[in-house]
Amino acid sequence: MAEGRPYVFHVLTLFPQMIRQAVGHSVLGRAVEAGLIEVRVHDIRDHTSDRHRTADDEPYGGGPGMVMKVEPVAGCLARVRAEAAPGTRALLMSASGVLFHQAMARSLAAEPGLILVCGHYEGVDERVALHYVDGEVSIGDYVLSGGEVPALVVVDAVARLIPGVVGNRDSLAEESHEEGLVEYPQFTRPAEFEGHRVPEVLLSGNHAEVRRFRREQALDKTRRNRPDLAARLPPEPARGRPRPPRLGRPPDPEETR
Ligand code: SAH
Repeated sequence: MAEGRPYVFHVLTLFPQMIRQAVGHSVLGRAVEAGLIEVRVHDIRDHTSDRHRTADDEPYGGGPGMVMKVEPVAGCLARVRAEAAPGTRALLMSASGVLFHQAMARSLAAEPGLILVCGHYEGVDERVALHYVDGEVSIGDYVLSGGEVPALVVVDAVARLIPGVVGNRDSLAEESHEEGLVEYPQFTRPAEFEGHRVPEVLLSGNHAEVRRFRREQALDKTRRNRPDLAARLPPEPARGRPRPPRLGRPPDPEETR
């Protein structure tokens, strides 16, 4: 991202309000107000050519539901690519795409901006994936009714990695998935609630002990909740920073099982 210029997300959708409303609050809302990011929403229906503004049609070969037509999406994308910064990547939100993950968010945050295309109904004419975007991204192994929530997931994950969006840079480095681990558990006041005490070591003021405790807890929680991640950690003493996987790939095929 060029210093001083906002990182621009372009979201192409049939339901612009879903995106507009969601980006007006909290961390994203403040980032927009501060001019750190911009979220431009483009209505795919503005690129239909018939009187009824038809954006979907029946699938060739039969089958249930409706499929989003290629022309309005391609037309909208052409317009957006013309206004986006050169080199901006366009990704189609898709339940059959490659899995989104933290390292991908990091690579995307280092690019000049991002174009996201939201499908709806039974999906989008495959020619969009084949010829008009640079990749297909899934946010997880479940099917949602539209690409708007997935696009917001990507916008949120990428935006908080843009410098200045999250106040304290240190909080980013220690978060879940940054080192192939989930984050250590966090506690705040009071030190005791309904008989449940905060671990003593956190009150001790001994920073080395706190660091060691947190590391152990993060490992423990990773093993319990995410055995798939734990299996990929290097053997104990040699553990360094794992190399981020290439963009467009989940960290390991094991994870998708
Ligand atoms: N028939 C499709 C699902 C269509 S869901 C299939 O079986 O794969 C409608 C739209 O929602 C998709 O075009 C996509 O844009 C979005 N979508 C649904 N689940 C998603 C997921 N897990 N990740 C990203 N996008 C998703």
